This record gives sequence, structure tokens and C-alpha cells, in this order.
Amino acid sequence: MSDYTQMWRDLGLNLEAHDMLLNVLGNAYKDIYLSQKNRPEGMGYFDFVMSEVHGLRIKELIDEKAQGRKIIGSYCVFVPEEIALAANATLVGLCSGADFAIEEVEKYLPRNTCSLIKSAFGFKLGKVCPYLESADMVVGENTCDGKKKAYESLGSLITNLYVMDLPQMKSEQGKALLKGEYYRFKEAVEKLTGVKITGTSLKNAIKTVNAKRSAIHRLSELRKADPSPISGLDALLANQVFFYDNPARFTESVNKICDELEKRIQDKQGAVPAKTPRILLSGCPMAVPNWKLPWIIETSGAVIVGEESCVGERGTRNLVDESIFNLLHNAGDGVNESSIDDNQIIDKMMDAITDRYFKVDCAIFTPNQERLNHIVEMAQNYKADGVIHYSLQFCQPYIMESIPVDKVLEDKNIPTLRIETDYGMEDAGQLKTRVQAFIEQLG
Ligand code: SF4
Ligand code: SF4
Repeated sequence: MSDYTQMWRDLGLNLEAHDMLLNVLGNAYKDIYLSQKNRPEGMGYFDFVMSEVHGLRIKELIDEKAQGRKIIGSYCVFVPEEIALAANATLVGLCSGADFAIEEVEKYLPRNTCSLIKSAFGFKLGKVCPYLESADMVVGENTCDGKKKAYESLGSLITNLYVMDLPQMKSEQGKALLKGEYYRFKEAVEKLTGVKITGTSLKNAIKTVNAKRSAIHRLSELRKADPSPISGLDALLANQVFFYDNPARFTESVNKICDELEKRIQDKQGAVPAKTPRILLSGCPMAVPNWKLPWIIETSGAVIVGEESCVGERGTRNLVDESIFNLLHNAGDGVNESSIDDNQIIDKMMDAITDRYFKVDCAIFTPNQERLNHIVEMAQNYKADGVIHYSLQFCQPYIMESIPVDKVLEDKNIPTLRIETDYGMEDAGQLKTRVQAFIEQLG
């Protein structure tokens, strides 16, 4: 492996703390991922990506910056990658799945803040996140109260924070607010990059991100087979890498693994034996390296067949409608040039982008019946024997919503286990006992 010490030093990382983090990450990856049996060969790509997640990928981003491209970091799936790409910027996920510098963090945030928010602060205060330090713009969003207020404090720690407002209700007014915010974001990104978004650049960006999501949809479909051709841990990893990797390379790698999984299904070859109890995981997003609960589930005799999560199907499930491209085609051909100009085409695409993102059923929305329907639909489609609902401790939106989730699943006779946990390992033994008891009852 190359030596990236100078690059990390140039980014201002705390080298000692960063080494410690990489050690912990490497060991966890070995114990949780590399110890799995019957992994598809295509996972070799993701193993490589993870081994280089703070190395080669960061070098690529630094090289892009040297060529004038800007890097935008985001904490939420509501930030549209299409707009970043269309303005010649790269979007990377910044959510963090590990505790770091907790004592320092608690000088900024109350103790009873969810691990995800604390972790974002810990990675900043501990100076261990090369993605955050490479970013030319960091986008926060007004989703839950915790994040909304935390960005006020984060703004005192970083100079390039941009905060996006988001609706809380799925009304026409809510959609108009989202579209307005996407226009405001577009202008901010154009200002950052000095690149004006055109109909053609937005079209290409939509196609790139749609292709990436389609590849993940293909992977999800294949998990409907029994035996499941891939473990939930490996599928989660692909969903996590979605936020970091070069989009075209990611699409190609996921499609390649899907070719292999199709062959496995034909040969009735699974990551686990047939009839292994199937679990749908639902709830808060799981950022790298938050693998605790999936690891507990899959070492307790079950396989995870879907994630109703922002790092999973909630985040990826819909595509931007491409039918608008016909208009662009006609305009470009000169057939329709006088009747529709580039601004109108862009506006139609902004509508299509807004429509797509407006369907994301995060628990911050009220009411949020769509999410309840979607969980039932996923449990049925993926033939799950049970649902494990995962909330991070102190996450009001998902903890509150776990009660109606439980109820709607009970009405459909789908067994449910509600888990509340954090990033620590202290409760691993107790969680394992509860998960094992739940899985035994499914069999
Ligand atoms: S759970 Fe909500 S706030 Fe978190 S990433 Fe998803 S949409 Fe954004
Ligand atoms: S896990 Fe919950 S509390 Fe934490 S950032 Fe997400 S929605 Fe907010």
C-alpha cells in the first residue's frame, strides 16, 4: 500500500489519532467482513475500496481538486448529487459511524445527542476525516432538530458550511420549498465551481446518478432469492460505498457483482444455506464503520435481505424521471428550439429532481404513512420472516416512529423487534441475546 502520510499531513489531520482510527477500522473490517464465508468474488473490489477509503480515494479527490474540480461533502440523502455533478463538482458522504473524541464533542453537544451527530463532530474535532478536510463546501440540512441545531455549532468549527432548508410535510407547499432550496443550492454550487449548469450537463448528471441507483436496485432485486446470494453485511457495504466512490466505477462494480450473483442464483449457491431466517432491517442510516447490529444479526443465524434505510432502499429507491430528455433532444436538434430554451429545460429537470427526492420518506416528515407502507411492502417483497427496527439512542424521529411501524407490521402478522442502541460495544452481549431469541422464534 502507498504511503499517504504527507497527503494526510497536508490536509491537517492529526496523524496519531488518524492512525489509531485506521487501526480500529482495519481490525473491525477483518473480524466482521473478511471472516465471512461464501462471499461473492466481486466483493474483492469493495474490500479494496475499504482498504483505501482514506488513501487512494482521497488521493483521487485531491487530484480532481488540482484539476479545478470542487468537492462537496454532505450528511443527508436529500442533497442532490445530480446538481453537484452537473456543475463539475464531486459529492461525497460525510456521515460517520464511529465514536471519536467524545469528551471534546460533549463540549459542543449535549450528552443525549444521537451517535451520528456526535460522530460528525468527533471526526472534525479529532481531525481524522480526510473527506471533511478535503471538502470545498459542506452541506448541512434542516432535518431533525438535533442536526438543525448541531449545524449552528458546526458552523463555528468549519468555514465552508452551507445549510439547506427542508420541508417537514409532503404538501404542495413542501414540494415548492424543496424546489426553491434546490435552486438556491444550484446557485451556490455554480458560484463555488464557477461552472454554469446547462441542460446538457444536468441531463448527463441525472443519467450518471440514475445508473448508479439502478445498479443498486439490481443488487437489491437479487437478494429476493432464497438462498440469498449475498450477505446483508456485504450488501450494506455496497450501499455505504455508494456515498464515497467514483459514480461510474461504482456502477460498473455493482453491475459486475450482480452478474456473479445471477450465476450464483442459477446454481442455487448462497452466502447462507437455503431457509436461513430472513430479516429486513429498518430505521436509522448506518454509516461506515457502523456494522454492529448487522454483524450481530448475521452471526446469530439469520441473513439480512433488505435495508429500509437512507444507507439502503430509502435513499436509493427512486430514479429521476428521464422522459424530460425528449424535450432536450428536440431542442438540440433544432426541431423545437424556439418553443423551449435551456432555462425551461433546466426547470423541468429541477422539477423531476424535486419529485424524486420528495419521495424520500425520512422520519422527520409528518405524517409519514408512506414509510409505514414501504416497510410492509419491502418485508413482503423480500420475503422477510421478521423486521428488526433500529433506532439510534436519542433519535426522536425514528424512536417515535418505531411504535407505528411495530403496529402496522403486527397487523400484517410480521414479527418485529425494536432495538435502540448507539455506536458503543457495551450492549453487544445484551443485543445478541435479544436478537438470537427473536430469530429462534422465527424458525
Ligand atoms: S434519515 Fe433523514 S436526515 Fe438522515 S440521511 Fe436520511 S433523510 Fe437525511
Ligand atoms: S439518527 Fe435521528 S437524531 Fe440522529 S441525525 Fe438522524 S434523524 Fe437526527
